[in-house]
Amino acid sequence: MKITVEELLNLSGGVLLTENCNRKIKSVIIDSRIPSSNSLFVPLKGENHDGHDFIESAVKNGSKCVFVENEKYIDKNLDCEFILQKDNLKALQQLATNYRKCLNIEVIAITGSNGKTTTKDLIYSIFAKKYNTFKTQGNFNNEIGLPIMLTRLESSHEVAVLELGMSNFGEIDFLANISKPDVGIITNIGESHIEFLKTREGIAKAKGELLYNVDVEGKAILNGDDPYLQKMKNIHSNSWLYGFGKHNHLYAYDLKQTNEGVEFTVNGLGKNFSVWLPMLGKHNVSNALAAILCALLHGLTEHEIKLGLNRLDMTGMRTEIIQSKNKKVKIISDCYNSSLTSTIAAINVLNDFKHSGRKIAVVGDMLELGDISKKAHIEAGEKVGESKVDMLIAIGRYAEDLAQGFNNKRGEKTLVFNETDYLLTKIKKYLREGDLILVKGSRGLKLERVVNFLREEF
Ligand code: ATP
Ligand code: MG
Repeated sequence: MKITVEELLNLSGGVLLTENCNRKIKSVIIDSRIPSSNSLFVPLKGENHDGHDFIESAVKNGSKCVFVENEKYIDKNLDCEFILQKDNLKALQQLATNYRKCLNIEVIAITGSNGKTTTKDLIYSIFAKKYNTFKTQGNFNNEIGLPIMLTRLESSHEVAVLELGMSNFGEIDFLANISKPDVGIITNIGESHIEFLKTREGIAKAKGELLYNVDVEGKAILNGDDPYLQKMKNIHSNSWLYGFGKHNHLYAYDLKQTNEGVEFTVNGLGKNFSVWLPMLGKHNVSNALAAILCALLHGLTEHEIKLGLNRLDMTGMRTEIIQSKNKKVKIISDCYNSSLTSTIAAINVLNDFKHSGRKIAVVGDMLELGDISKKAHIEAGEKVGESKVDMLIAIGRYAEDLAQGFNNKRGEKTLVFNETDYLLTKIKKYLREGDLILVKGSRGLKLERVVNFLREEF
């Protein structure tokens, strides 16, 4: 971003309360602690803090313009401009919306219950081979993160790959309206956020909001193996399907999984070629198919696609294989988030991993599943029970339900812990050299602490 305060005002609205409208603004921040140069600081009100209390610190760290919701926050001693807004968050969103409209960039927006961040990273890796490509940093996918991401676009960017997240109706519509996508991708319809959306149909409807916002001359890319998404193929007139079924425009077959990744062949759009994906699990082949289809539709070559997938630039904590410090155990770390679909995907990865020692699943709560929580945890426990896993260590509020599911299939009791701290004091005695340990659970449990412990202690 390289705009003057005057241009900023035109984009965001508001009233300039100081004089220098020629000052240059290069970025937008909401965290006053991060050093910046010539940034706009947007103080937001959180649960515990009001960003307005940190204006001085933001200016010390490089901000040259600040949005304020009340004139009382103006400090004439600070070397910066002040713009009065009714609502800082709305002004930030307005700024992002109008800034996006000024840029001639191919915007690819991704939503879905699982695999958004992974698909975004895969698309980025491929497209960056040919185009000056931008991608959402980490998981900045909500009503605050997405607008900030949009302000990081530059006119030199040719493609932007954005992640759109949601937990309720109307949110994807809102985010898509800000992003104005040329391409809309939906990875799948799972059960995440069912607490708010009540049914899978509700979840599908909420994700489907994306498709109504895709440019009429753009494209929709949908997982055609998902029955809910199949039904949405007529929402946009230019829809493309991917998956494992042969009815899809692009499908994968002949999967060969190793401990380092998956080799598979893709067929469709007049092409047939094999691909090496250095990631584990069939679910990641599905994510890769979305990326390959998107790339083929944009004219990227087989060679560029293969090169992109070979050198991936992935966001952390999603199905990583980690060797412990003293090489006594191996860990499959997947503790960024969790849902029933993604827990089953992770258990499949553990199941398919070629390993001569014991396989152990440390599985934690899948949060935000509302009324179906108990049933979903029993189902996940049953899935572990059916797999080649030697031992389940269940952790969290729903640990008893996981254990119940495991018991249903195996007729065996399992280890149950209520919280992560306590598990850390005990886990060592249940493990031994040669174990392969999957660690999977929702963000709230912070199971990366278990991963770090295992890495250091074994
Ligand atoms: P969030 O809603 O937290 O942003 P996300 O949709 O961005 O999640 P990722 O971060 O890409 O999802 O993946 C999270 C986990 O979900 C992975 O570690 C993996 O266990 C699982 N997962 C990823 N892709 C799929 C998929 N296509 N189907 C099922 N599970 C998946
Ligand atoms: Mg994500």
